[in-house]
Order: sequence, then C-alpha cells, then structure tokens
Amino acid sequence: MGKVGFILCVCTGDCPGFASMNVWDLINQVRLALPVEWAIVHPQLCETDGDRFTKNLLELIRQNQLKYFIAGCSPNMQRKLIGTHFKEAGLNFEDWVMPLDVRNMTTDQAFDAIESQLEKWVKIDD
Ligand code: SF4
Repeated sequence: MGKVGFILCVCTGDCPGFASMNVWDLINQVRLALPVEWAIVHPQLCETDGDRFTKNLLELIRQNQLKYFIAGCSPNMQRKLIGTHFKEAGLNFEDWVMPLDVRNMTTDQAFDAIESQLEKWVKIDD
C-alpha cells in the first residue's frame, strides 16, 4: 500500500463529538502502535488554513505517493469538505484518502476503529 500519513481532525477541539476521547492519548497511540509514516492533529481541515494544508499535501502525494488516513467527521462530509481540492488537482479522493468518522467515540473505541480500518485498507490495497 505504501506510506500512510495519519491526520486526526478535531473540529477546533471544542466540538462535543470529540469530548469523549483524549485526543493526545489517541494520536500518541496511533503514532506509536500503528504502521503510519507520521500522525498529526489538525484543528480544522475544512477552514481556510486547512484548505492550504490540504493543497500542500496534494503536492506531497504527487512527489511521494503518500496516502492519507483522515479520522474526523463522516466520510461524506470529508468528501465534500476536503475532496474538492483533490478533484481540482485531478486526483480521485478515494484513491488517496481513507476517511473515518470517529466522533462520539472514546479514545479506545477510536483507536480500535482506526486500527481495524487501517488493516482493511492494507488488505484491499495488497
Ligand atoms: S473536516 Fe470534518 S472533522 Fe475536520 S473540522 Fe471540518 S467538519 Fe470537523
């Protein structure tokens, strides 16, 4: 499957959907226990600076063939909010991003969901 960069997007950190998890515990578990190239927290990928961040990532995709796992809001929302940049760049969002909804989960539930989805993605791509 190649390298995977992991992004946890947390709706500014104030969204009730993320209140049940410890964001820092989760990101540390992901970066230490899962086969990701790196793991980061972004406060709001669908805001203007998030748009710029995504456009920078598109450059990395082209150069390094890096794929992205984005844990945050629903896959449909991610497709609408973030996927437009992929479309504009002539890239298919689905080919490069695994979106996962982790809202209203505890830290452990979110980690398990991420681990399981990552395993499925690896199997699909192998
Ligand atoms: S992309 Fe989704 S998770 Fe991230 S800030 Fe926007 S609505 Fe929230």
